[in-house]
Amino acid sequence: MSTVHQSSDVIVIGGGVIGLAIADRLARDGARVTLLERGQCGREASWAGAGIIQSGSWHRRDPLVQMQRDSVRDYANFTADLRERTGIDPEYECCGTMELLLEDQQYRMARSEFKAAAAYEKEYGRRVIELWTPEQARSFESAITTDLLGVKYDSTAGQVRSPRLLRALQQACIQSKVNIVEQCEVKGLIQEKDRVTGVRTVRGSQSAGHVVLAAGVWSARLDQYVAAVMPTIPVRGQMVLLNLPTPLFARVLERGRTYLVPRRDGHVLLGATQEPEAGFDKDLTAGGVAALMSMALRLVPGLKDATVATMWAGLRPGTPDSRPYIGPVPGMSGLIAATGHFRCGLTLAPTTARIVSDLILRGESPYDLARCLPGRPVENRLTAAPA
Ligand SMILES: Cc1cc2nc3c(=O)[nH]c(=O)nc-3n(C[C@H](O)[C@H](O)[C@H](O)COP(=O)(O)OP(=O)(O)OC[C@H]3O[C@@H](n4cnc5c(N)ncnc54)[C@H](O)[C@@H]3O)c2cc1C
Repeated sequence: MSTVHQSSDVIVIGGGVIGLAIADRLARDGARVTLLERGQCGREASWAGAGIIQSGSWHRRDPLVQMQRDSVRDYANFTADLRERTGIDPEYECCGTMELLLEDQQYRMARSEFKAAAAYEKEYGRRVIELWTPEQARSFESAITTDLLGVKYDSTAGQVRSPRLLRALQQACIQSKVNIVEQCEVKGLIQEKDRVTGVRTVRGSQSAGHVVLAAGVWSARLDQYVAAVMPTIPVRGQMVLLNLPTPLFARVLERGRTYLVPRRDGHVLLGATQEPEAGFDKDLTAGGVAALMSMALRLVPGLKDATVATMWAGLRPGTPDSRPYIGPVPGMSGLIAATGHFRCGLTLAPTTARIVSDLILRGESPYDLARCLPGRPVENRLTAAPA
């Protein structure tokens, strides 16, 4: 078992994709880093996630969507670097996503995004969004339903195998000399006046120049003041993994918030429900699983013969306005937030790591963080479960 260092430059709380990516980046940028994980690294939302790596709506131009697009553009390098350093391949592929348009309203929205996306053709050197007729779509993926109006294809999107990504990140952290301490729950923050100087854990106290709060949906449980300035909301997502004797399609298929992800090994992942009302409960429900199955069979009727490999649920770290908290926590100097990534944490991990490392080591962010700062006024769109 790793030992607890008495002091480090930075303590990172939480060993999900966000905490691990930050710890690795900081250590490679020269900091002495300790990462404290309550259980085992990479076993919560990050492990549960589907691993779709997506650019966000092409209507948007704000700094948050820019972070997301930069992450997507960096993902091939990010994962190739991890593969080279650790020998573990996160299996990132830029396979594109096909949104199946089944209703007029959806088709109109896709057309409007297709027009907006034309502005990015020069920057990307190609059309980022294509609008296909049903015949065109079926010439690429013959297994999809015939009952559709068209398809919106996003050529920038891809997928990564989340469990492999997490193993690679943990190994990378070990190689870059991050002191990872598992089974070490952080119980509270140590403060001197308005400065956070360390943490209290189940295995004693530790001090550090900076503390990074990356405990996913549990971040707000650490401290009452933190819960007030950056409330986090668990949003359950149920998933089903199917087994197929022969692959039926190669691109990620989407319908609204649900999707089918074909894996290289022949599995197809169906996801995901979106249930803030479930609180911290990670049970699977008959209704949730039935909804995923019925969506899958509607989009790809040939899946009826697939067998069920396994199912699981995870808790996305939601926030009232669905934007993450990245940056200094007001009134608690030395504490940096990196949580609340909701549906996009796997996508946003490389950029979040870069921002947090730059904030701590250079005192500046490469992005305007105003819309992500803890303490911002938020409109309440999701219902908060008690922290
Ligand atoms: C079903 C589902 C599908 C998803 N699909 C996608 C997708 O396709 N693409 C995408 O980009 N994102 C997706 N997401 C979202 C993404 O998985 C999350 O945004 C991301 O994993 C959040 O990472 P995290 O490190 O903040 O949280 P977590 O992975 O939850 O990690 C937090 C860690 O902190 C630890 N911890 C908590 N409290 C303490 C404490 N007091 N002391 C020490 N450690 C503590 C926990 O044990 C945990 O390991 C999905 C999520 C779900 C649930």
